[in-house]
This record gives sequence, structure tokens and C-alpha cells, in this order.
Amino acid sequence: MADAFSYRVKFTDIRVKPPKEEQERQKAVETRECHRDDCDLAGDHPAPKPRGLEGVYWFCQKHAGEYNRNYDFFAGMSDAELEAFNEMARHGFQKTWKFGTGPMGKDKAAAAHDPRRWRGKEFFEQNAEARQARRKEQQSEGVTAQALAELDLEAGATANEIRVRYSEYIRKFHPDSNGGDRSTEHMLARVLRAGKTLKAAGMMKA
Ligand SMILES: [Zn+2]
Repeated sequence: MADAFSYRVKFTDIRVKPPKEEQERQKAVETRECHRDDCDLAGDHPAPKPRGLEGVYWFCQKHAGEYNRNYDFFAGMSDAELEAFNEMARHGFQKTWKFGTGPMGKDKAAAAHDPRRWRGKEFFEQNAEARQARRKEQQSEGVTAQALAELDLEAGATANEIRVRYSEYIRKFHPDSNGGDRSTEHMLARVLRAGKTLKAAGMMKA
């Protein structure tokens, strides 16, 4: 009978190290999840919200990359387009079927699924026209103020101050200045966007 109790399992610990994704999922539970609805990995990569919106979205690494690649779709966005972009960021940018093969037929399908020709845009713009006209000036001031803030500058900064700070920050956050370290890339992207905004507003020489 003693034999029955002296039996030992061959492996005392058969657990394997959890795969990276599993660790990320665990981290997501402890902290925050990726902004994408269909993703439950940890959202530990901040990505600035589209211009005109405050703050950042938190994505996993993969979806932060996807978000950033799509960022320029809506340069100079209206409110409706900002919303559309935000929605796409939540649900992913993938198209559900190839243009022209879906139930809506050729042109309609293309128009409905190409965000640059987004049909909803017109609907929103008609309804929001008056509101947008009122807000337009206020908004553009907000946008340039935000761009200046990205460069740690006050509202009264001169064109020269802006240009000097811009160049300084480009160097500071460029991976090449950081021994190839790419962790400052998102900062570099913000500086570049701020520069683009300020150039468009005529506040910095192109
Ligand atoms: Zn994700």
C-alpha cells in the first residue's frame, strides 16, 4: 500500500511561461484595455486623438501602429469626420469586403467604405453647417493653441521662437538622436503634426 503514496508525478511543474499575448491580456485586466473594441490586450501605447480633440487614446502596440498609419486620412477634419475617425479607430480600419463586390454595388460601396469619400460626411455637414460656421474661428484658434502647447510655447510666441523650438524638438525626439531608440517616435509625430498645423496657419515658415 505504501507504494500508492510514494508515487510522484514525473513533472512537478508543467506550467509553461504564459505567451506574450496572455501576459498582455493579464496586464489589460490590471490596467487598461486597448481602445479597440475587438482587442483585449493592454493599452499601454498612447496615441494623440485627432486634432481638435483633447488627450490620447491608449492602444496595444499593434493597434497604435495601425492608428498612426491612418492618422492623416482626415487632415483638416470636420467634427463629423473626427467622429468617423474615432469610430474607425475603435472598430479597426479594415474594410469588410473588397470595393465594388459588396451588396451595395460598385460606386456606392466604394463611396460608403472609402473614408475619404465618406457619404455620411455630407449628411452631417448639412445638419451641422450653422454650428460649424459659428465654431470655426474658435476652433482654429484652439487648434493652433494646442499646436503651440505641443511645442511648450505660449499663445504669443513669435514665428522665430516657433521655428527654433520646432527644430529643437525634431532633433530631440528623432530616433537618430536617441541612438536609434524608437520610443520617442510618437512624440516626434506630435511635433511634426504641430508644425504642420502652425505652417498651415501661417504662424511658421514652411
Ligand atoms: Zn489592440
